[in-house]
Amino acid sequence: MTPTEGTASAVLAIDLDAIAANWRDLVRRHPSGPVAAVVKADAYGLGAAPVARRLIAEGARHVFVATLEEALALRAVVPRAVLLGVLNGLVAGAEAEAAASGIVPVLNEPAALERWRACAAARSERLPAILQIDTGMNRLGLGRREVERVAQDPAAFAALDLRYVMTHFVASEEPENPLNREQVRRFDALRAMLPPVPTSVANSSGIFLGPLAASDLARPGAALYGINPTPGHPNPMRTAVTLEARILQVRDIEAGESVGYNSTWVAARPARIATVAAGYADGYLRSLSGRGVGLVAGRQVPLAGRVSMDLLTFDVTDAPEAAAGGWVRLLGPDLPPDAVAERAGTNAYEILTALGARYRRYYRGQA
Ligand SMILES: *Cc1c(COP(=O)(O)O)cnc(C)c1O
Repeated sequence: MTPTEGTASAVLAIDLDAIAANWRDLVRRHPSGPVAAVVKADAYGLGAAPVARRLIAEGARHVFVATLEEALALRAVVPRAVLLGVLNGLVAGAEAEAAASGIVPVLNEPAALERWRACAAARSERLPAILQIDTGMNRLGLGRREVERVAQDPAAFAALDLRYVMTHFVASEEPENPLNREQVRRFDALRAMLPPVPTSVANSSGIFLGPLAASDLARPGAALYGINPTPGHPNPMRTAVTLEARILQVRDIEAGESVGYNSTWVAARPARIATVAAGYADGYLRSLSGRGVGLVAGRQVPLAGRVSMDLLTFDVTDAPEAAAGGWVRLLGPDLPPDAVAERAGTNAYEILTALGARYRRYYRGQA
């Protein structure tokens, strides 16, 4: 499947061309303003540096991570002209380091605003910042009373270069949820108290809410990586990952024999079992035990028994192509992260962010 397949136990192929195509698609769908690249959690497991490099080459001018550590790790990849934002904001005491590195914190509480102002004063410069308003998540951001309070202080933002005021949706993947409209209403009411600055509202699914969530900057992550931003409807995005693991052995067993830990799977007929080189230590979730499927030459094969730490067992009785040295596909355009997530009882975000460090990685379309 790739130049590195020869000796690999498992290969994770990441398609930067697909990620770039997804970004361009989101740009078209968000005409009210530019579209950032959210690359937190190592670009949802796919590699923050190669993804950021490629999307900046495509024209992205805003990159978001969750933590200062992630921002510092990306500093060499993101030119100073590109906004490098930290969604979680800064831990107290980290301001000087962030300022020296040209990192733009999201200010999530009045105390963070105070500390960033003090840092700006100490450096005698206006420091860039993004202010988050909480409109229902109750997670990060200034609440109504806090916005009212800082709005009464004319000096609150004087020393800062406030780039955006932002909020985050609770349930944008549910277009019928009345909370979407209510959050936008609260956001508009609160930001009207503040100096007029550009706005940032939509995450991936928010972009698909259309004009309701249109703002001056969208912040998608999931959709870039091919996760369906419109659950229950066909996925408009391109899958960006293909994961294949090596078949180490194929063995024939008798009806009545069991496979794997604790004998949770028992052959109902004489069966062929393929043992495959991936497991829960690679982020193949143990909750897929008895529920997962793989693809052998495009044919679906069921997981037999429990997921082990380093191994999987598939019932390949009906897949004559299965042979030692061959491959079982665990993710791909024909087995997308959303489908695997449904079987695992989770969301596709967790499937991607769990992808392990042991896979041999291969990037297509590197900038
Ligand atoms: C993670 C995150 C995003 C991106 O969300 P997706 O659903 O992955 O598009 C945007 N904004 C904030 C504040 C986030 O935490």
